[in-house]
Amino acid sequence: MSQKTICVLGGGIGGVVAANTLKKSLGSAGRVILIDKNPDHLFAPSLLWVLGGSRQAEQIKRPLARLERKGIEFINAGVSGIDPEHKSLVAGGQTIEYDYLIVALGAESNMPAIPGLDEAAINLYTLAGIEDLKNILAEFKQGEVVLLIPSNPYKCPAAPYEAAFLLDAQLRKGNADGNISINIFTVEPLPMPGAGPKIGQSIKGLLDSRNIGFNPNMEIESIDPGAKEVTFKNGEKVRADLLITIPPHQVPNVVKEAGLTNEAGWIPVDKRSLETQYENVYAIGDVTTIKLDGKYKPEKPLMLPKAGVFAHEEALVVAARIAEDIKGGASKSEFNGHGACMLELGDGTAGYAKGNFYAVPHPMVDMKKPSRRRHYYKVFFEKYWFWRWF
Ligand SMILES: Cc1cc2nc3c(=O)[nH]c(=O)nc-3n(C[C@H](O)[C@H](O)[C@H](O)COP(=O)(O)OP(=O)(O)OC[C@H]3O[C@@H](n4cnc5c(N)ncnc54)[C@H](O)[C@@H]3O)c2cc1C
Repeated sequence: MSQKTICVLGGGIGGVVAANTLKKSLGSAGRVILIDKNPDHLFAPSLLWVLGGSRQAEQIKRPLARLERKGIEFINAGVSGIDPEHKSLVAGGQTIEYDYLIVALGAESNMPAIPGLDEAAINLYTLAGIEDLKNILAEFKQGEVVLLIPSNPYKCPAAPYEAAFLLDAQLRKGNADGNISINIFTVEPLPMPGAGPKIGQSIKGLLDSRNIGFNPNMEIESIDPGAKEVTFKNGEKVRADLLITIPPHQVPNVVKEAGLTNEAGWIPVDKRSLETQYENVYAIGDVTTIKLDGKYKPEKPLMLPKAGVFAHEEALVVAARIAEDIKGGASKSEFNGHGACMLELGDGTAGYAKGNFYAVPHPMVDMKKPSRRRHYYKVFFEKYWFWRWF
């Protein structure tokens, strides 16, 4: 069997799982090349712990070069071109030819998409934004905190709600005189609509119990960065002393330029095999779009949420399919739309949402009662993650 070259673009959650799994299963039959513009893997599910001070930035990163001990070749360079027709790509100035390609380049912040947003708000989804916010919170004693979700899709639909619970615990603990308010303004009709109505109502109930305002279906008209004032399309104006935002998201430019995206700007893939329209080119994780058969309301189509748990599962499926193909077997592995995630509540407890996102008439996801045990499960999972893949 001649050796095949598999290029994995992106050393985030999907890329790291795919590269590890492929190398382990193929051995010398596969040359696995992982390419990332950053030298380190950043485990984003732990970002909010940096905000709360229970992690330092360095604790949630690992050097991708460590994967070389397992026989994976790591190239620390930006991917600047992908030619899926001719099975080649450009990274760090060199052209690389591949037999199989896995695009796992994620979704990046696009703050300029909304004029004034970058000047007015802190981006909750970057390490720099989290570190700025941590410093502000240390001094913040009173005022209006506004958490904006200005557009969809965005990664980890639980994260803004986790952030609200953490802010509540951190800012209002011992602050019974009520001089800090926290309000969420979102374009969504319900928290986490991609997980179905049941979980949305559960989260809404938790927000109500903490006096965190939830304002659904709020589309931004304009932002006045000087006054930190947001005007919504329904005419409502909201002024914030502290404005925190989930950024608008987009695919990295190189993905768009390669002609891999659809009109909505994401890579459409087969929902079970993760194949793109190009032969031997797969895409996994946040860079993709998968339309669900279930709907939230008859008129509203739903997309599979962007989350690490799906990037992880999809990576396992794609790695198995490629390995099966190389070894000459039929490709049987399929992604089934199942997933689970923890929801940190800021008081040392966490909820646990688990279910089938491919279910009809809508995704069937249940939220298990919050408990301390579930918070520790999330802590354990982070440790397992670094041990397992690095
Ligand atoms: C605050 C926060 C909390 C979260 N919590 C959870 C959680 O609890 N559970 C959960 O399931 N998910 C969570 N997520 C979401 C999760 O992190 C993402 O869904 C997941 O990382 C997606 O994996 P991916 O492999 O598709 O992309 P990523 O992990 O984003 O990896 C993409 C990689 O591509 C690289 N890259 C991009 N462009 C280029 C280029 N041109 N050239 C080379 N390299 C490039 C990047 O450097 C990056 O390493 C959270 C996200 C955030 C921001």
